[in-house]
Amino acid sequence: MRRTVRDNLGWKIRLGNEASTKEIFSTILRQKEFENNIALYDLSKINSLVERWHQKLPLIRPFYAVKSNPDPEMMLRMASLGLGFDCASKNELEFAQNTNVNFETDVICAQPFKSQRDLRAISNLGVKYTTFDCVEELQKISNFGLKNLKMILRIQAGDEESASQYNQKFGALSSEYDNIFEFAIELGMNIVGISFYVGHSMKNTIAYYHAIKKASEAWKIAENYGFAMEILDVGGGFNEKYFDRAANDINRGISEFFREKNIKIIAEPGKYLSASVVSSCFTVVGKRSRVINGETHIDYILSDGVEGTLRFLPYADDNLPVPIYMGDPENPPKFHSTFFGPTCSGDDRIYDHDFPSVDIGDKICFDVMGSYSVSWGTNFNSIPMITHTKLYIDEDMDN
Ligand SMILES: *Cc1c(COP(=O)(O)O)cnc(C)c1O
Repeated sequence: MRRTVRDNLGWKIRLGNEASTKEIFSTILRQKEFENNIALYDLSKINSLVERWHQKLPLIRPFYAVKSNPDPEMMLRMASLGLGFDCASKNELEFAQNTNVNFETDVICAQPFKSQRDLRAISNLGVKYTTFDCVEELQKISNFGLKNLKMILRIQAGDEESASQYNQKFGALSSEYDNIFEFAIELGMNIVGISFYVGHSMKNTIAYYHAIKKASEAWKIAENYGFAMEILDVGGGFNEKYFDRAANDINRGISEFFREKNIKIIAEPGKYLSASVVSSCFTVVGKRSRVINGETHIDYILSDGVEGTLRFLPYADDNLPVPIYMGDPENPPKFHSTFFGPTCSGDDRIYDHDFPSVDIGDKICFDVMGSYSVSWGTNFNSIPMITHTKLYIDEDMDN
């Protein structure tokens, strides 16, 4: 099937056999001038990522962690493929609403601490599943009048070696389980499952196995208290690079610790489902050449940087987006180059990279820009990150 690229305003071109990001952006930039940064969404990638998920983790239904990229078209595609959504706030719940999901079955609010505004949205929209990790949250939800929410206890699960740490902030300790279960019974609240999050971009995938073991221990205790347990939530932290390994460790954990159980198993992947869907194109807005110890060094200021959509860079681990040279020559000479973002912050430094010389006004592109980029960047210096133009690659439905 032929592919097209379109924007939201009716502009659309057909693609040929372009394979690389560089070839696709070259075709696009030949057809139209873009003053803004571009975020290019390849929606068909979502199909292949979901297909791979079902192959490797056939027992587990993914609930996309909306915070990683709340793009409406991405979410529509995911909903059409049968995915659920993990929404952490009122606004994320409203994004899910635009996809016409069934809030009872297709949405989990996996944020363990909810504001009054979040609770109102949960109540209004009819969300059924949410996580918590302490008695105070149970009390708050009970006071709010949402006693019939299906509560999933988030337990603390080892996240050493993940790209960012969560254990200080979230997760019940095993020494707290009894107290939590007793308190839930007192309030008349319904605990139906166990969840954990091993941490972002988890390399040490055996952590999933250990967390599932720990979850099975909490599960047994909950059953002893009389709760009808139905759902295991193995969280997020998936990275395309380690995905197969993570899937093996999870499948092993499930078959060892949840073998005879007829239960629902879900996950909340963010980065896995969004990172490689988006490529970005920035413009060189400044250039400075220097000779240091007899060597040429070139500094570039780009139209976006680590205060904008590259804010995730320190957490990108080895899935690093690298600058793509858009120029023609096959093997141009390279210079020691440093790429900075456009703000006044000295920390707005993207990369040191050997790179061919480019000029002010030239474009530089990056792959794997889909997760924690548009959703996390800032408007520091009043440089509005959100004015970037979104383009969508998709299979051409008209042909
Ligand atoms: C952020 C988050 C996710 C998604 O994480 P990824 O590392 O992007 O997969 C899933 N669950 C919870 C509770 C989270 O906080």
